[in-house]
Amino acid sequence: MPKHAALDTAELQAMDAAHYLHPFTDFKQLNRKGSRVIERAEGIYLWDSDGNRILDGMAGLWCVNLGYGRKELADAAYAQMLQLPYYNSFFQTTTPPAIRLAELLAEVTPDGLNHVFFTGSGSEANDTVVRMARHYWASLGKPDKSILISRENAYHGSTMAGASLGGMKPMHAQGGLPIPGIVHIEQPYWFGHGAGMSPDEFGLKAARALETKIDELGEGRVAAFIAEPIQGAGGVIIPPDSYWPEISRICREREILLVADEVICGFGRTGNWFGSQTYDIKPDLMPIAKGMSSGYLPIGGVMVADRVAEVLIERGGEFNHGFTYSGHPTCCAVATRNIEILRDERVVEHVRDVAAPHLARRWRELADHPVVGEARCKGLLGALELVPDKNAGERFPDPGQAGTICRDICFENGIIMRAVRDTMIISPPLVITTDQIDELVALAGKCLDQAAAALRNA
Ligand SMILES: *Cc1c(COP(=O)(O)O)cnc(C)c1O
Repeated sequence: MPKHAALDTAELQAMDAAHYLHPFTDFKQLNRKGSRVIERAEGIYLWDSDGNRILDGMAGLWCVNLGYGRKELADAAYAQMLQLPYYNSFFQTTTPPAIRLAELLAEVTPDGLNHVFFTGSGSEANDTVVRMARHYWASLGKPDKSILISRENAYHGSTMAGASLGGMKPMHAQGGLPIPGIVHIEQPYWFGHGAGMSPDEFGLKAARALETKIDELGEGRVAAFIAEPIQGAGGVIIPPDSYWPEISRICREREILLVADEVICGFGRTGNWFGSQTYDIKPDLMPIAKGMSSGYLPIGGVMVADRVAEVLIERGGEFNHGFTYSGHPTCCAVATRNIEILRDERVVEHVRDVAAPHLARRWRELADHPVVGEARCKGLLGALELVPDKNAGERFPDPGQAGTICRDICFENGIIMRAVRDTMIISPPLVITTDQIDELVALAGKCLDQAAAALRNA
């Protein structure tokens, strides 16, 4: 019998504290408190080591699009591991699962994206973006076009380049980031920064910050602009409708590459296969990961538009970049099966026609709650802005405190919502039913009530 089967929660927590350094965690604080141990899952629900059932409002970390417990994905991994668990694509070799996935991705991604560079994660995909964008311009004889423009509060991963592209100040503060050649402009966060403007006025203003930045740097020095169609980890920042058309115009006119980081928005999250379709973005490079395999195995990649691929193929020479697990056969087999199920079970249509419209109706009701300043959602991404007084237009004086209180209350009530400072966010599995959305909204409302009471007493 495996050793851990006999361990109770306290023993697991003690071992966890003794040996396991968790990502994005204050180690000392967590060791005092003890980790929550998740033991199994089915559909949209998790069970912890004390037997509590928890509705997973975050689909793991925005990734378990098909929900938990899909035997077909386990079967695909098992069969591939017996056939060929691993081989690389470095030495002029390839494997059938990598080929099949590359072809399927060309089919399900937007028109004009027909090549993929495989990675092991979204961070590696964005590291690939930095090198590929610069290599593209160098191959065209323009090596000075090397700066990447990103946005404040963006999340593009945790490697050196990923965290540099990201706009998270606490990440930059550790390890000497950002690396050279990456700059940031403002984000299209209307509720936070758009006071006195209509959403569309503010969207245009935020987009034109890109134009100003390109002109300041000089078009001849800028390689690319990178953005998530909807900012996820930054707090589900849904841009005003005016934002993306203006960004697209600027990138076209200034001759810089447009990179749509679809690591969260891809594979159905916004009600289309890709967020780029929801916002009519025509990306030159498109990083993908997370929902690509529903998180069952780690895999990512960069989709490359035909016009870029042609230059890389015809003029680029050797691209000195790649990972041991680029095109990992078992991960590719699982991703392929995942995408086939998304397609064959019409999961994206379920989001677009059933789940997202239902969530939109129900989520709006939460906007009436006394501690909610705004309730917004798009597809199956949602956010609630916690405020001390909904008529005063002010935030809590100590940012993050109210969010943390609310998040802990959510856990106690059997629902996972994440807090980004004082914004509560959700991103449930795409297979969530309308009844389960009702359950999610009811639980969220109950947690808001308890959070309001706790904040009054705080
Ligand atoms: C999660 C995320 C990444 C990083 O992906 P990892 O697999 O964690 O490396 C990159 N971009 C976006 C938009 C993400 O949400």
